Amino acid sequence: MLVGHYAAALVAKAVEPRAPFWVLVAGAQLVDIGWAGLVMAGVEKIRIDPSLPGSSLDLYYMPFTHSLPGALAWGIAAMLLCRLAISSSWRVCGIVGAVVFSHWLLDFLVHRPDLELWFGGAKVGLGVWNFPVQEAMLEMGLIALTGAAWLWERGRSQRPAWPALLFLLLLATLQIVASLTEPAGSTFALGRTALVLYLVVSGLAALIDMKDRPAGPSSLPDQGEPVVLADDLEPEIGRDFKF
Ligand SMILES: [Zn+2]
Repeated sequence: MLVGHYAAALVAKAVEPRAPFWVLVAGAQLVDIGWAGLVMAGVEKIRIDPSLPGSSLDLYYMPFTHSLPGALAWGIAAMLLCRLAISSSWRVCGIVGAVVFSHWLLDFLVHRPDLELWFGGAKVGLGVWNFPVQEAMLEMGLIALTGAAWLWERGRSQRPAWPALLFLLLLATLQIVASLTEPAGSTFALGRTALVLYLVVSGLAALIDMKDRPAGPSSLPDQGEPVVLADDLEPEIGRDFKF
């Protein structure tokens, strides 16, 4: 799964607008960010197997990132790191941890059985990847549903819709490109491409955070709700163009 993972970030942002969007977006792929790094380091292993139906990526060894206990550990670590460095709210950081762990649940839907239930144990995965069209529709559907929830929340808090629409358009484009592209190159290059992609998308999410942040000295992360201040600062004419 590629862009479908971001559905967890979108719904989390709709539920808890105080959570920084870039943290949720990076968190949704944190397990894969770790995986890309470990693949580049030769610790976790992948190979291309053109005989496979659907995606030709064979993810045959990734216990540290994509086992159930591994993903749980990533989620808990992210929650604690968030509490230390990002937010004083356990609710915000609990949601960040849940978003990180959601990666495993969403991967479970699409992966072939390559997700270990415990270290060295049985591997699971429902294998929607074997059916590329349905898999792409699943990812797009997840993004459409959760993107609508995110847009609704932005409208409710009078934030402009266009940054969100551009971000959703980017995700849709990524999904289309990924669907039309066969993985190729060395495992190092595949890991590097994935890593760059995840970091760029997280960076764009940070730009949306910056756009949403009210100007002025009171823009600390946990003071999150900029509605009143933003309204005060904006010219009357601007309001009609927000939804
Ligand atoms: Zn993954």
